[in-house]
Amino acid sequence: MIIDCHGHYTTSPRQHESWRTEQIAAHKEGRSVPARPKITDDEIRDSIVNGQLKLQQERGTDLTIFSPRAAGMGHHLGDASTSEAWATACNELIYRVCTQFPRNFIGVCMLPQSAGVSPRNCIAELERCVTQYGFVGCNLNPDPSGGYWKDPPLGDRYWYPLYEKMVELDVPAMVHVSAACNPAWHTTGSHYLSGDTAGFMQCLTSDLFKNFPTMKFIIPHGGGAVPYHWGRFRGIAQDMKLPPLQELLLKNIFFDTCVYHLPGQELLAKVIPTENILFASEMIGAVRGIDPETGFHYDDTKRYIEQLPFTPDQKAKVYEGNALRVYGRLAGQLKKQFG
Ligand SMILES: [Zn+2]
Repeated sequence: MIIDCHGHYTTSPRQHESWRTEQIAAHKEGRSVPARPKITDDEIRDSIVNGQLKLQQERGTDLTIFSPRAAGMGHHLGDASTSEAWATACNELIYRVCTQFPRNFIGVCMLPQSAGVSPRNCIAELERCVTQYGFVGCNLNPDPSGGYWKDPPLGDRYWYPLYEKMVELDVPAMVHVSAACNPAWHTTGSHYLSGDTAGFMQCLTSDLFKNFPTMKFIIPHGGGAVPYHWGRFRGIAQDMKLPPLQELLLKNIFFDTCVYHLPGQELLAKVIPTENILFASEMIGAVRGIDPETGFHYDDTKRYIEQLPFTPDQKAKVYEGNALRVYGRLAGQLKKQFG
């Protein structure tokens, strides 16, 4: 089975995102929020059949670990109550996709985070999504302020209540920022990649995994700048008298393969142990065009993986085995959804 561990519902029915615009406008103007729009099963079906499902079939992947649109999370907008209503609506929509297409999608939730609001606030929604919807993970935004980095780093005890619940439920988090509202950042071009890099570094300089030895983070987008600058991170850890990165972080941190060219994938596969690489494409996401140098979509990452010097055993780990290890509830949920 080929499991794509990083997909977002970027093709959701239009009225879903329109409601979000109205919700935030109403919040700003102190008006009451309009009722949620009706979204039919057929509308969901169309959006998937002509979107992510079509590409799964064309590209030969089997299952996408699917979450709400990341840039749309917008934790810097509104307040705790708007975030809660929005997260609930987005997660419900993912659940409806997984219910209609149980063999193709398994859910991961977004969290109702808000800048400056304790992550304790996210526990109820995480628990609801895991226990009621059968979701197998969450997306954790290390910067709910949207590019101003106002909240404590991921190693801070500020985040611990949420981590305790993640460990209890046996779900990992993908460390994934949302849209940038700071004009110095381009959301997908720089804010995402620096969010990945910052998240990794925050883990390196903390005792997070000493305190949560079974907790797992997936750093998306190939780990941002991390694999490319692996020597720098190793050297910093060494100067800080920390154990080697393999020991310090690689039992807990994993990287996806959302890297949109072959040389980048080659570097990832060369630098990061195969056990720590999870196949992903984030298709219909940040980069939707065709690479004129190859004639194929930049985000058709399976094409790059197929060209890497992996043994069949290594390839099976990247495509399936590592995901089953990192997402502790995935095997059980697969059984449920496959009937
Ligand atoms: Zn993403």
